Amino acid sequence: MKQSVIVIGGGISGMTAAGILALQGLDVTLLEKETAIGGHVAHWDRLFPDRKKASEVLDFAMEGLKKVKLVTGVTISGISKHDDGFTVSTSLQDAGCGMQDANTTQLPPAADHDSLFTASAILLATGFDLFEARKKEEYGYGIYNNVITSADLEKNFKSGKAILTHEGKVPGRIGIVHCVGSRDEKVGNLYCSKVCCVTGVKQAIELKELYPASEVFNFYMDLRMFDRHFEELYYEAQQKWGVSFIRGRLSECSENPDGSIILKTEDTLTGSPLKMTVDLLVLLTGFVPAQSAKTICSMLDLKTGSDGFVNPADSHTKNNLSGINGVFLAGAVKGPVSIQEAIADARAAAALLAGYIKSTLVND
Ligand code: SF4
Repeated sequence: MKQSVIVIGGGISGMTAAGILALQGLDVTLLEKETAIGGHVAHWDRLFPDRKKASEVLDFAMEGLKKVKLVTGVTISGISKHDDGFTVSTSLQDAGCGMQDANTTQLPPAADHDSLFTASAILLATGFDLFEARKKEEYGYGIYNNVITSADLEKNFKSGKAILTHEGKVPGRIGIVHCVGSRDEKVGNLYCSKVCCVTGVKQAIELKELYPASEVFNFYMDLRMFDRHFEELYYEAQQKWGVSFIRGRLSECSENPDGSIILKTEDTLTGSPLKMTVDLLVLLTGFVPAQSAKTICSMLDLKTGSDGFVNPADSHTKNNLSGINGVFLAGAVKGPVSIQEAIADARAAAALLAGYIKSTLVND
């Protein structure tokens, strides 16, 4: 009998893992809470460090899903573990959502929607949520029109529309603020979100590509250009595009009558306080644990760390195992990761899960 797997989460990790498991000949069902798969990557325009189109990465992952049963627009309402595996119950998130075939965008009526799924194993790939920028009230998101997040900016890039201020002008001066909601004791997130520094550098370059005459300032605490070619991107931003990097944490913002934003910060390299006006302010919001993962963790009794992300059985040697037999972990459910890392991690999780199912078959 063919063995079955449920992948929870249809972002890049879940898509990658589901495709590999299907290639192994397993029956794979992918459950996604949104009405479409793709996760955060679906809202990105170009990726760091090489500025590859995000859509190319998604298309590649989509290719693997031809034999995967996709169920979108559902939330997990219960998970029970039994001798043969798991039963997962779902409820519809929105009217009009339901089963989705990888080869078509047509959605059958909700009446066709299954609400109970059984599987020998579960792969949890619920990803992350973005930090809610409104929680940093002093930065003015949701209060001042010309304060946006890096996710908003990315959507604007993707739409191909001009990036203009709320008043419809080309921004002459743009500020990009690092570590919004990360490395911040006040909001309870001590961890670094890892990829926002390089995102800020990439977006600074893209803004300069669009508007060479505009000035772009990145306000950072440390620049964490940890991976291959990231440092080169940072050099490119400074040397080719003239992006300015100011070491200092933004303390507060206010708005001028013309809609421009006044920033107060301290240049911690020179020790001098700094006041500056920008036409557009971009907040680099970090990762927070996905709300949907919290519910699933309590259903499965999975352990989370003080940061709220799921703890693997061992972070060195069992990084894709949850500590619960038959439950595997992939991607940002365990903490901030880059897209490359998420894909590699999903492949590792899928390989382990396929091995687990084969050994179950042998034991049977
Ligand atoms: S990657 Fe950079 S911006 Fe993001 S939290 Fe870490 S130090 Fe801050």
